[in-house]
Amino acid sequence: MPLTGIDIYKLLPKTNCGECGPPTCLAFAMQLAQKKIELDKCPYLSDEAKAILAGASAPPIRLVKIGTGENEIAIGNETVMFRHEETFHHPCGIAVTITDDLEGTALDEKIEQINNLWFERVGQKVGVELIAIKETTGDPQKYANVVRQVTTKSKQTLILISSNPEIIKIALSICARKKPLIYSANSQNYQAMASLAKTSACPLTVYGNSIDKVAELTTKIKDLGVEDIIIDTGAREILKVINDLTQIRRLALKRNFRPLGYPTIAFTGDGQEQVLQGVTYISKYASVVVCSGSEPWQILPLLTARQNLYTDPRVPLQVEPKVYEIGDVNPDSPILITTNFSLSYFTVEGEVESSKVPAYILAVNTEGQSVLTAYASEKLTTEIITKMLKETGMRDKVKHNMVIIPGYISVISGKLEEESGWKVLVGPREASGLPAYLKQYAS
Ligand code: SF4
Repeated sequence: MPLTGIDIYKLLPKTNCGECGPPTCLAFAMQLAQKKIELDKCPYLSDEAKAILAGASAPPIRLVKIGTGENEIAIGNETVMFRHEETFHHPCGIAVTITDDLEGTALDEKIEQINNLWFERVGQKVGVELIAIKETTGDPQKYANVVRQVTTKSKQTLILISSNPEIIKIALSICARKKPLIYSANSQNYQAMASLAKTSACPLTVYGNSIDKVAELTTKIKDLGVEDIIIDTGAREILKVINDLTQIRRLALKRNFRPLGYPTIAFTGDGQEQVLQGVTYISKYASVVVCSGSEPWQILPLLTARQNLYTDPRVPLQVEPKVYEIGDVNPDSPILITTNFSLSYFTVEGEVESSKVPAYILAVNTEGQSVLTAYASEKLTTEIITKMLKETGMRDKVKHNMVIIPGYISVISGKLEEESGWKVLVGPREASGLPAYLKQYAS
C-alpha cells in the first residue's frame, strides 16, 4: 500500500525549516504522498528515511525509455486509469514487424515501406516509431543481417525479438548504440537476458504466461540489476489481453504493486484484426503495440486513435487564430470563416486544397472549440467575427465584399451582415461540401 502523508511525516526531521519549498514538514509530507514534490527537495533526511521514502515516492508505473536522441520514446509513468481523470502522459509506441527470413530487395522494400508510415494529421506528424525484428529462422547470421540493414536504412528505434540470448548478443553488437528494446526474458533465459540488458543499458521485456509469472520474473530481474522493464503476459486473444493489461494497470496504480509497476507490450494479428486489436490495446493499456501488417490502412486507425487519446482532455487541440492563405490567393479569392479548433480548421483546409480554389480561411479564436460548440457557448458571435475581419485587414486583401460562414451557423447571417458590412454567404454544413461550393463560387 502507498504511504500516507502521516506515514511520511513520521520519517521526516520535523524541524519545519521550509527549505524544501512547503513551509512545514507536514506540508512536504502531504505533497510527497500526492507525488507533487521530489523527495530530494528535503536535504535533511536520514539514510533510512531516504531508503523507505525513495521506494514509496517512485512513480507507480516506471518511466522507461527506448531508443536515443530524437528517436527516443518514453513510455509508462501513467497516473490514472481513465483519461478523463487527468490525462494520459506518454503515448504508446507503435511498431511494425520485420521477420529475419527477408533479404535483398524484399527486405529493402519492407524497410522503405515502414519508413514511409508517417502522416500529417491535424497539423501534427504521426507515424510508426519502432521496427520489431523477429527471429523466425534460428539463424544468427540471417538475424544479424536484417538488424544491420534496418539499422543502416531506418531511423526507427528497434525491438529485438528472440528468446535466444546468443542471437540477441550478436544483434546488440550491431545496434546497442540505438538502445533497442530486448524481447524477451522468460523463466528459462532470464539470467542471460538480464546480463545482456545490464551490460548494454537497454530495456528488457519480461515474458510470462500469466500475470503471476510476470510478477515473479520482474522481481528476479530487478534483483539482477535491471530496472527498465516492459511486461508481456503472453496473452494474444483480445479479451485476455484487455483483462491482463487492465489488471496490471489497476494493481500498479491502486495497490502500488511494484512487481507490475512497468509499461506493457501487446501484439496484434494481421489483416483487419490488427486494426481492431491495435485500437483496443492503445485504449487499454498497452505502452507498445507491435503490429504484423504495414499497410497504411492498417496503421492509420491506430495512429488516429493514439493521437486522440493522448491529448489533454482539458485543452482542445487548436491552431493559431489568424488568416490562413490556402493556395495562390488573389483579391478575388473567397473568405471562409471557421474556428481555431484543429480538427475543424484542418478539415476545412483539406477540402479547400482539394477544391483547387485559392481561398482565405479566417480561423476565429474560439479557444479550440468546434463551430457548433463555439456558437452555443458564445465564442463564435457576430461581434467576434466582425472584430477579426477588421483586425486582420481583410478589406485590404480582397476587392469583393463577401464572406462565407459555415452552414451550421446560418442563423447569424443577417446580424453579421448588419454589424460587419460584409455580404454574408452561407456555405455548406459539412466541410466535405466545400469543393463543389467553391467551384460554383469561382465560376
Ligand atoms: Fe521539513 Fe525537510 Fe522540508 Fe525542512 S526541508 S521543512 S526538514 S521536509
